[in-house]
Amino acid sequence: MMAQILNAALVEEFRRRLREMRERLFRTAATSDEELQTLEAHQPGAPAEDVARESVTTLLSRLSGREKRELDEVYAAQARLETGTFGICEGCGRAVPLARLRAMPAARTCVACEAREEERAR
Ligand SMILES: [Zn+2]
Repeated sequence: MMAQILNAALVEEFRRRLREMRERLFRTAATSDEELQTLEAHQPGAPAEDVARESVTTLLSRLSGREKRELDEVYAAQARLETGTFGICEGCGRAVPLARLRAMPAARTCVACEAREEERAR
């Protein structure tokens, strides 16, 4: 496994940034404090009763397609942060510059690899 490139302070910083992004999306979906609590309490992967999971799905269905994708990317980035692969480009395996991570904490790739992917998609 590749070495962790972020020190403890940076890991903390990105935990906070990703949590803020997630909370912003939750607040977009929820219309009451109770709904917000339901979302906060039942993260993906967390053991939840079927009823709770269903209400989370219902709440999140209010998000636009773009917002849902953004939330998925935030969850994926949070998982990478906890497994020590956060900040490593999924395209070339090199470190993603800190400035890019700060601008886009959920970025999976460096700018060059993103440009290559967009070129391919065209
Ligand atoms: Zn790259």
